[in-house]
Amino acid sequence: MLTLESHVCGTWQAPTGDGVITRHAVTGEPVAAVSSAGIDLEAAVAHARDVGGPTLRSMTFHERAALLKGIGLYLMAEKELLYELSTATGATRADSWIDLEGGAGVLLSYASKGRRELPDGNVLLDGEPEVLARDGSFLAAHVATPRQGVAVQINAFNFPVWGMLEKLAPAVLAGVPTIVKPATPTAFLTEAMVRLVVESSLLPDGALQLICGSVDGIFDHLGGQDHVAFTGSADTATVLRSHPTLVSRSVRFNAEADSLNAAILGMAATPGTAEFDLFTTEVVREMTVKAGQKCTAIRRALVPTAEIDAVADALATALTNVRVGDPADEATTMGALVSTTQRDEVRGAVMSLRSATNVVVDACTFHDVDPDVGAFLAPTLLRAIDADARSVHATEAFGPVCTLVGYDGPEDAVRLAALGAGSLVASVVTPDVNEAAALTLDIAAHHGRVHVLNASTAATSTGHGSPLPTLVHGGPGRAGGGEEMGGLRGMRHHMQTTAVQGSPDVLTAVTGQWMPGATRYIDRGHPFKLHFDDLQVGTAIRTGSRTVTLDDIENFAHNTGDHFYAHMDEAAAAASPIFGGRVAHGYLVLSLAAGLFVWPDPGPVLANYGVDRCRFAKPTYPGDTLTVWLTAKRKTLRTGAGYGEVAWDAQVVNQDDEMVAAYDVLTMVANRPGANSAPDPAPGKDQGQGIT
Ligand code: NAP
Repeated sequence: MLTLESHVCGTWQAPTGDGVITRHAVTGEPVAAVSSAGIDLEAAVAHARDVGGPTLRSMTFHERAALLKGIGLYLMAEKELLYELSTATGATRADSWIDLEGGAGVLLSYASKGRRELPDGNVLLDGEPEVLARDGSFLAAHVATPRQGVAVQINAFNFPVWGMLEKLAPAVLAGVPTIVKPATPTAFLTEAMVRLVVESSLLPDGALQLICGSVDGIFDHLGGQDHVAFTGSADTATVLRSHPTLVSRSVRFNAEADSLNAAILGMAATPGTAEFDLFTTEVVREMTVKAGQKCTAIRRALVPTAEIDAVADALATALTNVRVGDPADEATTMGALVSTTQRDEVRGAVMSLRSATNVVVDACTFHDVDPDVGAFLAPTLLRAIDADARSVHATEAFGPVCTLVGYDGPEDAVRLAALGAGSLVASVVTPDVNEAAALTLDIAAHHGRVHVLNASTAATSTGHGSPLPTLVHGGPGRAGGGEEMGGLRGMRHHMQTTAVQGSPDVLTAVTGQWMPGATRYIDRGHPFKLHFDDLQVGTAIRTGSRTVTLDDIENFAHNTGDHFYAHMDEAAAAASPIFGGRVAHGYLVLSLAAGLFVWPDPGPVLANYGVDRCRFAKPTYPGDTLTVWLTAKRKTLRTGAGYGEVAWDAQVVNQDDEMVAAYDVLTMVANRPGANSAPDPAPGKDQGQGIT
């Protein structure tokens, strides 16, 4: 039997006392002893703050994304070791796939988001600047920077790998060190995974620490820069969130708790429709994957009262095909619960549900296992006698258990779904788009995610029970009121948003992005002749001019086929309250602007891949003369790609210096051959001739 160690302050440390014994879910043999006796929790917090945090914060988003990618790939390469151990948790290969490869997938997804959606710096600009002075000399911008504390992450037993990695990824990307506390029953699998991460040497010292066993007392060392993320039961969440230190020091606390998720069979999904069958398949899948030990599993199947017999029959038939047995056997479709203790808890929850329900199915054949030794339980389908019974909507049996509940009309379905008092997810299954939309909007406030299923998405749906790294995972009320993942939203929980006020030059220096009114550098020649490495934010050109003629407008209309009246019909255009006469096409203005600022010869600018935020501020009339201000606004290095992305602030003005169009031009700009492709520091006043 293993004695699990904790990884703190850069070393593996064994507990000084006996631990809780965890057992194999199938054989009941001891697997590991788990204890944190003798582990210095205060030192772990200090190590995270003093060593891990500063190193992570010294890295850019892209560098941290690269760490996540490296770990994700490393774990994928070593996954078979983890698959082997995972069987002891009762998981089949398919269950373990969700945990192991799903977990590595979260790392890779965050790595890719970090590279694609974040700057190669460590300050995140949140939205557009706010102009606070009429003359533009005083601005404000919201910036997000990493919090200078530690993320203490407490996980549930059911996904010992995924559960840890989905919390770790956003914290690492944000630049915040993590202390993980796995749930005792499956801590041996988390420990094995952390050993692989440590062995990979990819993460800097202090970025990830592991405490196997109790973390009692750790909250006393936390403060306002720290973050606690908890996954587990609603009862434990209630105890932890009211810890005096967390309350008095405003420690951020995020809870993902249990929930009584519903699936609603729409009125239009009558027997014989594809959606009726999809509903049956989804409910059975959610009851049996991970033996129903999923926070997102369907606990309440809400069906029209008129169809409840048909649904009960269809589910009972489908459940006879579930093969319950040894998770190591490939033929097994449902393995064991994590422990006999957990099995007994589920049995207890089913007993409490029995007073308000009838049993539809609660027996099965157990293949090649002894259900008295292993933590096996038959899939259990109940049927509510009273649709409003409190236990049906409040008792979570965290196993292969689901209750059928009849509803009378859409309003009743919505009301019953809301009796769960806040859930992680609900499914709406119907072929009727309008019914789907109405139900979705009416239940949305009670859910973190709504999964709508019909025949058109049958083959492509990611399923009711799968939280995705790109989507919000969390729910209101009983589900904990928290939010995880959701792409970069999850990372933002680890950052502090600060409104910074100052001059355009100060805000440019703070954010690394050229701000309106900041110094422009116009003495470097044409900026399209500069390589990425040599281009400084604020480098600008004021182009020559071009007068727009009626011929230009008519030629553009004929060449493109855009004969909109405002460009071509003198009388109609004159009658328009917006134009008052013929005007140039907005796209003609953009094209003429490009003609003014583009440098024609081959050079560092490789391609223009789009424009952002384009607005036509004023009409351009025949006879107007256009000039363009083009200013390097934002640089994003694509490490190893040989180029970076440069966004240019483009402002097209007329002869009266009135803005007629404003937009960002997006380009790919080559690195200087042989250059160290590190991004330039923010510009200083002394670099070149500046004008504001
Ligand atoms: P749990 O008993 O609430 O335990 C969750 C975690 O909290 C474990 O790591 C546990 O450690 C720890 N813990 C318990 N008391 C603590 C305390 N006083 N201080 C610090 N940590 C403490 O839940 P579980 O049995 O592991 O998991 C099953 C529950 O989790 C189900 O209700 C399920 O719905 C929910 N869940 C929710 C989600 C979600 O994302 N919303 C995901 C998965 C599971 P020990 O194991 O050492 O006691």
